[in-house]
Amino acid sequence: MNQQRSATRPLAADTRPWRDPAARPFLSIRGVTKQFGLFTAVDGIDLDIFRGELFCLLGASGCGKSTLLRMLAGFEVPTAGEILLDGQDMSTVPPHRRPTNMMFQSYALFPHMTVEKNVMYGLLREGMARAAARDRAQDMLRLVKLEKFGGRKPHQLSGGQRQRVALARALVKQPKLLLLDEPLGALDKKLREETQFELVRIQETLGTTFIVVTHDQEEAMTIATRIGVMRDGGLVQVGEPREIYEAPETRFVADFIGSVNLFEGQVDAAAPDAMRVLTRDLGPVTLRPVPGLTLGQTVWIALRPERLALSHAEPTAPNRFRALVEDVGYMGQLSIYRLRLRGGRLVQATLSSRSMEDDPISWDEEVWVSFAPTAGRVLTE
Ligand code: ATP
Repeated sequence: MNQQRSATRPLAADTRPWRDPAARPFLSIRGVTKQFGLFTAVDGIDLDIFRGELFCLLGASGCGKSTLLRMLAGFEVPTAGEILLDGQDMSTVPPHRRPTNMMFQSYALFPHMTVEKNVMYGLLREGMARAAARDRAQDMLRLVKLEKFGGRKPHQLSGGQRQRVALARALVKQPKLLLLDEPLGALDKKLREETQFELVRIQETLGTTFIVVTHDQEEAMTIATRIGVMRDGGLVQVGEPREIYEAPETRFVADFIGSVNLFEGQVDAAAPDAMRVLTRDLGPVTLRPVPGLTLGQTVWIALRPERLALSHAEPTAPNRFRALVEDVGYMGQLSIYRLRLRGGRLVQATLSSRSMEDDPISWDEEVWVSFAPTAGRVLTE
């Protein structure tokens, strides 16, 4: 997993208005639905977004992310529900009168205009004087570090530079809300990763609220203040990147964000300090107790690969199992182990390569896999 925004740049509690029940949302989406004929593309979404957020809508292709974004921009009219921006109902406001702007994946730059003219275009159309528009465009080009490229045409730029021109053009009219549909989708992986941090820097410099649509979970984890995970037109979980990763509420979210080992079982015993789940693949597993479960209830234990420990010597952890190493993938900093449990189930463990230097483990060895009672998250759906 990439560096998380919350890990690299800890946000003070008072900059997380979503944790404050009294905070007033900047954007309120209330029961918004969009139907195309009989097909429901967006299904009753309720969501509050706060000023200054970089909110990511994350989901697989076709889950309705772009349709929701297009309704926020005014390009689609909701079949039901309402959208309030800064307290104002947007339902009858046309796109060009909304304090929003949208940046498309294709960038939609004018090929025959210079970079500077592309950025100035919207301001001139609004009637701003040329000199003032040029000053504002220069400010934006400085912000995206392209002040030396104002005289070039789009085809004389790299993909990453074109992306930054599109961003400057989307921001130059100082929208209150910027909607970005897969803004980094056209960039290759390395440039994409660099540009993610650039996007966060620009958003934080301006303080503009950004809503970013992406299908890339690592990207969402890296840039978002919060993530809304979508599935089949609905929102299945909303939270800070760390919450979504460490505390997924469903198997779908656990599996969609990062890698996970899932084990089905039934609650077998529960005491105030521990509970036991009887799984088919691991046998009895000891976990931290979860309130509200009943004996015999079917649950799933979600274990992130980095929560598993491997050793030759038998560990003391209550949850320990024999397994055969089938595969080791060396990824530099990390190594990924694929392990076959005695019952036949395959599990994945990720360990820092350095931590394995003293007790190297390789193919075809029989080893111990173990995890602490606090390592597994218990899911009921
Ligand atoms: P992607 O990541 O592939 O862009 P997405 O999550 O943004 O996917 P949407 O573009 O919002 O998905 O589309 C959601 C669903 O609505 C899809 O099944 C799509 O085919 C359907 N859809 C979108 N626009 C229309 C339309 N104008 N008419 C009919 N169906 C549509």
